[in-house]
Amino acid sequence: MSLKKNDPEIYNLIQKERKRQAETLDLIASENYSSKEVMEALGSILTNKYAENYPGKRYYGGCEVVDELEEVAKERVREAFALPLDWHVNVQPYSGSPANLEVYNALLEPGDTVMSLDLASGGHLTHGSPVNFTGKTYKFVHYGLSPKTGKLDYMEILKLADKVNPKLILCGYTAYSREVDFKKFREIADKVKAIAMADISHIAGLIVGGAHQSPIPFFDVVTSTVHKTLRGPRAAIIMSKDKYASAIDKSVFPGMQGGPHENAIAAIAVTMKEAKTVAFRKYAEQVVKNCKTLARALQDFGFKIVSGGTDNHLMIVDLTNKNITGLEARKLLESAGIVTSQSPIPQDPRKPWDPSGVRLGSAALTSRGMKEKEMSKVASWMAAVIADHDVAGKVRDEIKRFTKNFPAPGL
Ligand SMILES: *Cc1c(COP(=O)(O)O)cnc(C)c1O
Repeated sequence: MSLKKNDPEIYNLIQKERKRQAETLDLIASENYSSKEVMEALGSILTNKYAENYPGKRYYGGCEVVDELEEVAKERVREAFALPLDWHVNVQPYSGSPANLEVYNALLEPGDTVMSLDLASGGHLTHGSPVNFTGKTYKFVHYGLSPKTGKLDYMEILKLADKVNPKLILCGYTAYSREVDFKKFREIADKVKAIAMADISHIAGLIVGGAHQSPIPFFDVVTSTVHKTLRGPRAAIIMSKDKYASAIDKSVFPGMQGGPHENAIAAIAVTMKEAKTVAFRKYAEQVVKNCKTLARALQDFGFKIVSGGTDNHLMIVDLTNKNITGLEARKLLESAGIVTSQSPIPQDPRKPWDPSGVRLGSAALTSRGMKEKEMSKVASWMAAVIADHDVAGKVRDEIKRFTKNFPAPGL
């Protein structure tokens, strides 16, 4: 209550954002609603504590409690991901981007060759985009998606690996809607003796919830954010085989970070406990069911879905047959209360700022308790607005009423 009294400007902005989150349909594939419990840990007195370095060897006094806390968080990550005994966990990365930089910094020299999916096909900025530090520092060679199927083509990836001989092969995506065959990646990495790294930022919740296979039996290093399908705080984790543990720990601290955010680490621990429940398994399953339903319903309205559908929590809608660009569609849908992000389609002829598609995800809506029936409704609203821009206002009112029946966790 003291924020309301002592800093009403910020208090009111938070209230305004709370209302926006409650009254709109969040179809942004990387977003979710975290629980009250996660936020309680995140907004706790743990934010006061400095604890540079790792439990048992801190540079500051008074770390006995946060030492215990960090060990609990690590143990819970282990359990949630069923890590083998010879794997190590680091829970200190501030977010997904630093986690990736920290792995590269630990395992590569500047100029080393890395293979990853390019940004336009669904890779992340930190996977060697030319505008990103990673693209300027390492020699990224990008594999693409098959122009025919819109899916990963493992034969092509193997051919490219044979040709460029990468030190590290990165598998993990921001906008790829199909199940990833991690075993095939391992085989490719073995053939060229590369380190196999997975970035499961998007699908981590599906993996923990049993709705997507895990890379851990096959890979060497795995990074992940905690705030997407996992529904945790804005933070990240690095899991690796023990042989890389010391290099990775040193790269996180003192290599690239200072004091860890112990409040975020507490919230990671809370998230991992929630993710191990039966309710979360059901959630992960429902996320995928909802996404498939939404994709099919949109296809029935004549929308093209990249790769023809989805196996996970997201899809890319190719708008080239709808006479509207990705940016225009995003803005139009937003005016109707449907919040999405613009997205390139594979081999997009348009520029990244105004590409040919939008990306949609089902994770946040599923957290509000929406099921298949509601997904069909969402598809029909989207189709109506794109077909006739003038109905946006009417749809906006309907969605305001509709969202009242699906309160979001944590709001
Ligand atoms: C979201 C994402 C990241 C980056 O996470 P931030 O927390 O936004 O820095 C990294 N890799 C992938 C694949 C992602 O989807």
